[in-house]
Amino acid sequence: NEVAATAHKDLFTVNSPNVVYNANEIRSKYTYRTTLVSQNADGKYVATPKETVYDFKVERKIPKTGMMLVGWGGNNGTTVTAGIIANRRGLKWDTREGSRAANYYGSVVMGSTMKLGTDAKTAKDVNIPFHDVLPMVHPNDLVIGGWDISGMNLSAAMDRAAVLEPTLKMQVHKEMAAMVPLPSIYYPDFIAANQEDRADNLIAGSKACLEHVEKIRKDIRDFKAVNNLEKIIVQWTANTERFAEIIPGVNDTADNLMKAIESGHEEVSPSTVFAVACILENTPFINGSPQNTFVPGAIQLAEKHNAFIGGDDFKSGQTKMKSALVDFLISAGIKLTSIASYNHLGNNDGKNLSSQRQFRSKEISKSNVVDDMVEANTVLYKKGEHPDHTVVIKYMPAVGDNKRALDEYYAEIFMGGHQTISLFNVCEDSLLASPLIIDLVLIAEMMTRIQWKSSSSDGAATKDFKNFHSVLSILSYMLKAPLTPPGTPVINALAKQRGALTNIFRACVGLEPESDMTLEHKLF
Ligand code: NAD
Repeated sequence: NEVAATAHKDLFTVNSPNVVYNANEIRSKYTYRTTLVSQNADGKYVATPKETVYDFKVERKIPKTGMMLVGWGGNNGTTVTAGIIANRRGLKWDTREGSRAANYYGSVVMGSTMKLGTDAKTAKDVNIPFHDVLPMVHPNDLVIGGWDISGMNLSAAMDRAAVLEPTLKMQVHKEMAAMVPLPSIYYPDFIAANQEDRADNLIAGSKACLEHVEKIRKDIRDFKAVNNLEKIIVQWTANTERFAEIIPGVNDTADNLMKAIESGHEEVSPSTVFAVACILENTPFINGSPQNTFVPGAIQLAEKHNAFIGGDDFKSGQTKMKSALVDFLISAGIKLTSIASYNHLGNNDGKNLSSQRQFRSKEISKSNVVDDMVEANTVLYKKGEHPDHTVVIKYMPAVGDNKRALDEYYAEIFMGGHQTISLFNVCEDSLLASPLIIDLVLIAEMMTRIQWKSSSSDGAATKDFKNFHSVLSILSYMLKAPLTPPGTPVINALAKQRGALTNIFRACVGLEPESDMTLEHKLF
């Protein structure tokens, strides 16, 4: 876990009276323009532009950061670890298709760019890496650790995952053999019975208790101290659990949830115990699986402690395509009438999901992803009308991590015609999920260094700088069932999610949102 600090240099500065740089901070004054709509007695809308002025403050010092994964010994955990080591060391390896080199493809932060503006001389776009917009942690510098109910070292676990090429594994074998997951909590009722044979690395006790919360908190503190870290981000990439029942008096409020943990209530899942431990430790916690880790009491606890949480369920393959394609169809005015989604996969995730209660968590998470796009189009869909949508997942050991996703989109076009789009998406699941794990860590960490205050004239002014809301909905692009602050809308449309992410980052350095109007190329 030796870290070669990757020095950050500012790639640009913003030349504006609204943006001030000092040694520790970037401060910007940003005018957020929205439109308020009201409806007259005769049903007519009145749209009124509204301006709110925000001050943003970005801490420039990049902290030494740790990433702790729950389920570290799984396919995602081992793949992301090997991938970061390979990048850190600049590894190359042979494959039957020739030499390959480490990269961060599939990471929005590390692999995509953002338009900074237009070149003053040539009028051409100037694009910069996403990673350079704000002073972000470099993934090569992350110190990695975590927990797993399977005690296998990371090298052996990487072999078990059967994702990476042997010529790459050889080169990271020694380093990964020395990495061993911390024992974890295992409440057998929450994951499939077929996982029992790997559960050999356990903290004693089979239901929630305060000792479990305290043990996890101690693990986080110890990892921080031993590695001399300033920040830690924890992420659940362990098995999908069944949904926890929401029971009044048990998990509906922060106080009740704490009492339920204390009394060992059976509806408190391991992932919720991890979330609670992280919240109490003020360590951001992100849930990469579909279950309802964030029961209302957990969200309330996070708000109470001003701790960051994000979730749920990595959006890697089929759903990512869905949230792009459905956005395109419906905003093109085409009436999508059904989506049939079939998956088969042969990794341990697939094995766990072959159990009905765990599949149900995934089915729920995959089902609501088009709701906002359908609801927004009142021309195509009547109130309450919805396309048919079905999701099937089957376990097929032979295909391993090479997940297959088959989707049929059926739509109504002009004058009663039909359009059918069939997609066949094949990819190594963990190679899509690993860069998302990295993005979630880097963005969550960045959000711990951004603060705001408002100087609006409409009474919403705030005196002191404060954090974004505890629920980091800015992470939605990477997540299938985005968690949003209670009472706020869920956005699934992929382009909108990316717009929110890039434009919030831009605002923090006083740049206008990317409008794509390019009037400079149209009005002359
Ligand atoms: P995996 O089964 O290979 O890994 C999960 C690991 O979690 C295993 O090593 C298991 O031993 C461990 N584990 C189970 N319960 C635990 C607990 N209580 N504490 C600590 N460790 C525990 O699965 P994976 O392919 O790495 O996927 C991980 C999760 O991410 C799954 O829930 C999956 O549904 C979700 N997910 C994956 C993708 C993707 O890979 N593309 C996309 C979306 C969501």
